[in-house]
Amino acid sequence: MTRPLANDLYGRHRAVLPDWLALYYDEPIEITHGEGRHVWDAAGNRYLDFFGGILTTMTAHALPEVTKAVSEQAGRIIHSSTLYLNRPMVELAERIAALSGIPDARVFFTTSGTEANDTALMLATAYRASNQILAMRNSYHGRSFSTVSITGNRGWSPTGLSPLQTLYVHGGVRNRGPYAGLTDERFIEACVADLEDLLGHTRTPAALIAEPVQGVGGFTAPPDGLYAAFREVLDRHGILWISDEVQTGWGRTGEHFWGWQAHGENGPPDILTFAKGIGNGMSIGGVVARADIMNCLDANSISTFGGSPVTMAAGLANLSYLLEHDLQGNARRVGGLLIERLRAIGAGVDSVREVRGRGLMIGIELIKPSTGQAAPETASAVLEAAREGGLLIGKGGGHNTSVLRIAPPLSLTVAEAEEGAAILEQALRGA
Ligand code: PMP
Repeated sequence: MTRPLANDLYGRHRAVLPDWLALYYDEPIEITHGEGRHVWDAAGNRYLDFFGGILTTMTAHALPEVTKAVSEQAGRIIHSSTLYLNRPMVELAERIAALSGIPDARVFFTTSGTEANDTALMLATAYRASNQILAMRNSYHGRSFSTVSITGNRGWSPTGLSPLQTLYVHGGVRNRGPYAGLTDERFIEACVADLEDLLGHTRTPAALIAEPVQGVGGFTAPPDGLYAAFREVLDRHGILWISDEVQTGWGRTGEHFWGWQAHGENGPPDILTFAKGIGNGMSIGGVVARADIMNCLDANSISTFGGSPVTMAAGLANLSYLLEHDLQGNARRVGGLLIERLRAIGAGVDSVREVRGRGLMIGIELIKPSTGQAAPETASAVLEAAREGGLLIGKGGGHNTSVLRIAPPLSLTVAEAEEGAAILEQALRGA
């Protein structure tokens, strides 16, 4: 691996940007370009990208269809998304409304997932005239003032202060906590009892917000049906269900287009939020809600950049590509093979506690074999070793970031999955 000699960008980054703008790796990487499932750094090293899919590049790096749509739109007009009719915004909203599963859906575009959740919270609290929110332990919903105050892991709240009153519910993490050893059925019963218990003390929450698979929290999911069971309880109190699909949307989990569909027996969520990959790197976030909820605001709310014609053009081209090439099916097939392969590898490595996942959203939880405790140092060592081998992966999992996170672009091929698994095997064995 060649190091970018005389690349002083890191020093300049440190000098001018906030200390808390964390970067991966002892020697951070400057990515200069990408193609398909690969990226290159400033020193010319090529990496197989097993994490870009969750960050931004849902489909593929430099996807020609998206590049063309963006440059054509940019060449025509980059204008405000509001005040004047905006054709790409209407078209993308129509398509997302139809895909969302929410009846009589309205779509509001933002520029990030944080802003999408912030809007969802504003809608829910206004609709229910309550600033109390139910959120999941170990959850992550963004870094604005409102979203850190519903983010279950307080380590991700930079100030600890909170404008909302939040009650945290069990259920997001399957293999740790008081209900870890239970069967799926008993686990759901215990979580529902926990929710009922919370509501015994207060009946006023506006909404429950949850990620169907917790992303930053370490790619951990409850048994299918948990949120459907919660829904029965919520409905009795008129409490809304917000599904944060920022990481789980657009077919990433393989079996479903949205994560909520694994919990859909009692209907879709009232509000759904999305972001990250839909623009294939362009900044699109958004909220889908039933019309009566979306229109409850007494405001002429506008966003200068949310729904910008250029990002919408990217979203339309990317969504078309994703659907036409059945990338959800690809996530199911290639992700299924990759999970199997990683499970086989993990079975021979003492520090691997669990390989879990759905489609192309795969977590490898690491422990210190002698104690069974979280192993953040091992996770960092594996990240570094994988990089040396030419593979980029992510990490997550709460305070003790000891879960390796794998979320490649959804167009990953079987050969690339095998290549990445082989590099990861070396990295895990050596760490
Ligand atoms: N919700 C979830 C589930 C996320 O994973 C994230 C980002 N990691 C966000 C919201 C916030 O999105 P953004 O970074 O685009 O503001």
